[in-house]
Amino acid sequence: MSQLRLDDVSKVFTDDDGNDVVAVDDVSVDIGDGEFLVLVGPSGCGKSTTLRMIAGLERITGGEISLGGRTLNEVPTQERDIAMVFQSYALYPHMTVRGNMSFGLEESTDLSDAEIQELVEETAGMMGIGDLLDRKPAELSGGQQQRVALGRAIVRDPEVFLMDEPLSNLDAKLRSQMRTELQRLQARLGVTTVYVTHDQTEAMTMGDRIAVMNDGELQQAGTPLELYHEPVNRFVAEFIGEPSMNFLHGEFDGSAFHAGPVAYPFDDSVAGAVGDADDVVLGIRPEDVDLLDAGETGMNPEHEFEMQVTVVEPMGDENVVHLEFPHAGGEADDLLATTGGMRTFVAGSAVTVHVPTDAIH
Ligand code: ADP
Repeated sequence: MSQLRLDDVSKVFTDDDGNDVVAVDDVSVDIGDGEFLVLVGPSGCGKSTTLRMIAGLERITGGEISLGGRTLNEVPTQERDIAMVFQSYALYPHMTVRGNMSFGLEESTDLSDAEIQELVEETAGMMGIGDLLDRKPAELSGGQQQRVALGRAIVRDPEVFLMDEPLSNLDAKLRSQMRTELQRLQARLGVTTVYVTHDQTEAMTMGDRIAVMNDGELQQAGTPLELYHEPVNRFVAEFIGEPSMNFLHGEFDGSAFHAGPVAYPFDDSVAGAVGDADDVVLGIRPEDVDLLDAGETGMNPEHEFEMQVTVVEPMGDENVVHLEFPHAGGEADDLLATTGGMRTFVAGSAVTVHVPTDAIH
């Protein structure tokens, strides 16, 4: 079994001035056997440090990392049965693709040279680089180098793959193609994988589960849909989803939410729970901001308001529509709405907006 566990794992660096920098702060997460976990968060939040501690490239300051029940804390990198793929690919420039892929296998396995060559050729075939085995990295495109780096990890048949932004040097088209390919490959190989990225789209589309980090701390771990529909805090709500969730700041008077010209009544179950509060933030996903056609009224006029279109961004299959409350004097936040790409909205025109209660966070 290759269940990977992090229990209260921390890393404290000491900077050049002798001050402590807490890069990873008591992170606990279980990665099931064969699971694809994406570790996501903004730059500097501690993702790479977490990955490097799992790999054994960085000493753990506190907590425990275990694989299949065995503590890894003191196990040297080369004995961890973990293969890492870096953003930079880290290929040996003077070696051929064949050399890069077979390097180290002689020492780490009991396989004969012939068996190693067979394994390398089979893996290269699987990665679509079978005809590149005698080239050097400088003679390959970025995408091909990336496949070699992945092939080198796969050929070792490790218990765990660790990947640190492995697709970020590829152009957009190749990146989305490799995303799918990598996912399919991981599912087929069934190797427990931790994949680091700062890109929420990559996280949402690739992970069985996603762990969101901020400031060294784990914010939430869950399936993409759990994070999207039940974010535990503002950070996760804003980070997951593109375009980001709208936040409407205002106050509650016990029965309705008020922000500038907006008065949005809630039924007793919500209103009773919130009571009177002068610092309330409603979260609304852009796709839950319904824009009504002229003359159309929704089911509940209490939950509709007049807004003005400021900018329309046509994205092909959808429009991103920027909206403001006219005459709000900056007292009500602007909103973003996404609509079907066939609908037309004109900047400067008025539109009736409907937000259903059950879509409000
Ligand atoms: P991410 O991968 O999410 O961008 P990192 O794990 O690289 O974040 O870094 C987390 C924090 O730890 C950052 O504040 C970074 O500056 C700090 N850090 C990383 N490595 C070192 C180091 N060797 N010495 C001191 N601080 C470090």
